[in-house]
Amino acid sequence: MPPIARIEPLTTARALRGPFDYRLPPELAGVEVGSLLVVPFGGRDLLGVVAELADTTDVPEEKLAEPRAVLEPGVPAELVGLARWIADEYCSTPARALGLVLPPGAGRSTRPRVRTRHVLVAELSASGRLALALAADGAPLPGEPAPGASNGDGSAAGTAARAPRLTPKQHTVLSTLATAGPLPAAQTGADHGSLRRLAERGLLVLERREQRRRPVHATVGARNGGAPPRLTAEQEAALEPLVAALEAPDGTLNPAERRFLLHGVTGSGKTEVYLQAAAAALAAGRSVIVLVPEIALAPQTVGRFQARFGDTVAVLHSQLGQGERYDEWMRLRRGEARICVGPRSAVFAPLTDVGLIIVDEEHEPAYKHEGDPRYDARRVAARRAHDEGAVLLSGSATPRPESVHALRRLRITRRVDGRPLPPVEILDMRDARHPLHPVTREALADVRRAGRKAIVLVNRRGWSNFLSCRSCGKVWQCPQCDVALVLHRSQRAVSCHHCGHSERVPSGCPDCGSVSLARHGSGTERIEQELIEAIGDPGFPVFRLDADTTATKGAIARALVRFDAAPAGVLVGTQIVAKGHDFPDVTLGVVLDADQTLRFPDFRADERTFSLIAQLAGRAGRGEHGDGRVLVQTLAVEERAILAAAAHDSDGFLAGELARRELLRYPPFASLIRVVCSAEQLADAHAAAEAVARLVDAPGAQVLGPAPLFRLRGRERSQLVIKATQRRAAVQSVAAAVDAVARTPIGRRASLSADVDPQ
Ligand code: ADP
Ligand code: ZN
Ligand code: ZN
Repeated sequence: MPPIARIEPLTTARALRGPFDYRLPPELAGVEVGSLLVVPFGGRDLLGVVAELADTTDVPEEKLAEPRAVLEPGVPAELVGLARWIADEYCSTPARALGLVLPPGAGRSTRPRVRTRHVLVAELSASGRLALALAADGAPLPGEPAPGASNGDGSAAGTAARAPRLTPKQHTVLSTLATAGPLPAAQTGADHGSLRRLAERGLLVLERREQRRRPVHATVGARNGGAPPRLTAEQEAALEPLVAALEAPDGTLNPAERRFLLHGVTGSGKTEVYLQAAAAALAAGRSVIVLVPEIALAPQTVGRFQARFGDTVAVLHSQLGQGERYDEWMRLRRGEARICVGPRSAVFAPLTDVGLIIVDEEHEPAYKHEGDPRYDARRVAARRAHDEGAVLLSGSATPRPESVHALRRLRITRRVDGRPLPPVEILDMRDARHPLHPVTREALADVRRAGRKAIVLVNRRGWSNFLSCRSCGKVWQCPQCDVALVLHRSQRAVSCHHCGHSERVPSGCPDCGSVSLARHGSGTERIEQELIEAIGDPGFPVFRLDADTTATKGAIARALVRFDAAPAGVLVGTQIVAKGHDFPDVTLGVVLDADQTLRFPDFRADERTFSLIAQLAGRAGRGEHGDGRVLVQTLAVEERAILAAAAHDSDGFLAGELARRELLRYPPFASLIRVVCSAEQLADAHAAAEAVARLVDAPGAQVLGPAPLFRLRGRERSQLVIKATQRRAAVQSVAAAVDAVARTPIGRRASLSADVDPQ
């Protein structure tokens, strides 16, 4: 019996469930788990991934087909197992989950769209070097015959001390290669014919070589280069157990003992601990994955890894061109690079022998993927670490209660520079007439006079949050979604932040004819204008950073570079202004409308609010001016999250939050699964949700709903939330229920999706 390959077909058809068995002929003996094969399937060719190898099969001999071709490169076997786990864990299919781990450009197509690029490279040969040396000693004697100039005998060695005749142009080419080393043919200054003639004479070597397309990065001040600094005592104490875990012999630690949370305020030197832990992993012969929430917001982290480890670092993210991404992927696959830095998808880096997985800013919602499979990269990272015996290192100044509960906590309490965190003042906005509190205006004036910088955080982009008619009260709403349209004055449009619907700013009310419209609330665009007016100084510019100003590729990085380079000014924007960067001259941070995040009906509302204020506080007063200050404008002056953030009481906040969640049975004390059913008619959506609710049956699972959700993109929606204490059983039960209902007439009138650990 020849070996059998069990293949998962890469198809989006949910009904087509593999794996399917194929016979491997002798010439395919090298096929492994993770190999990509083109296989015949029902009269056409499909691409599939080898999920298992076996010796026997239930498929009768005569029905067993053979693969048609192998596509290179395949994926590491470890990633096949990880993908299958994701399919189960997140109510998805193996095909979709395997789609996450394929080489860039590979998909359902049976032909790869991206390939390794080859270029013709010219390199000076030993003969060429000798020829140059002889030419430098003296020109050939007059009348002496040139050795084999036309048909090229090539052997400079044979002509001992005689210099081969070189035209001035040929001489230039060889000298260029002598100083620059091997060069792509196009960069030698000579045409192909000339190079070929020199090659025929043995003076240089022409060769097609693989060329890697390497991405270039805009780095916002990777302020310190290669050499590691001396660690502080707290950093030392955090690093020590990490290194011990990295060096522990196999089998001496259980997985839980290899999972760490580095909890330290911003500027406490967490990144330095990551760097040194990564160095220890490399020294132990293992590879490293570094996850950041969003690559555009982490140029400093990327830059510091590159500065410390050079070409050993590969960067994988979606803003790279497909060729660049493919080549970075290949460098990892081949082991040419041993550290991968990237956003959540980098958890699938094709590295083998992973020793350390770092999750920076682990509290960031961006780690959750919002398409099928709805995986959470933090959980996938933990799983991958578990499978490969690696150390998991999550880090944050404002960790999630889940992580505090589940991981070994390493605490850094002080900033590296020894400066205290800036004082946080709460400004009561209940009687405010203007979006900027008088204290805020005064503080901005101080910053301007001192020639420093400020960051102002506004929770919403656009001009005003909604428009209404002053006479009949009509509110402008999205025709597709039940939400208010937001005014964007510079675009002369009102638009929906959920579906992108946009229409011209109305000049009057279509219902009552009144031309008097009211604008409510303020977004980034309006605050930008308010700041420009309040400051009134062209020498103190206002920079805006939100989804409107950063729609194009690289725009976030450019905006951050501009703010960093400006001698003074204000950066105003949405939550992205509070993330990750290190601007030394920022002395003031302001949060406008801090309770905006609290108004969301979400069990994470407090966590988000606390984190936003604490993260912004971390941006202020980092440089040599230790005089930072943070202002929080709010209506909710008594809120626990806001008071704790103002007191820099991270431990107190986390303890309170864990107690509250235990009482209410929220994560980490239960898992949540959300099922959303959408349809043209609300009744159909509800019926589907009710049908799922009836079928869900798992020990300790509590089904909440169905409850209506606001209409989105023209679809009515109904949602169920399942709270479960036995996660595995509940996920399986929900997945089975959703599948079963989808096949009934009720299910066919609706679309159903399940989201495990919804954000
Ligand atoms: P975090 O990641 O916690 O925000 P960083 O690692 O970015 O903190 O450290 C803040 C600053 O302090 C950086 O400029 C970093 O280079 C510097 N730094 C970190 N550790 C040390 C150290 N042990 N000695 C001197 N400078 C350090
Ligand atoms: Zn009206
Ligand atoms: Zn809409």
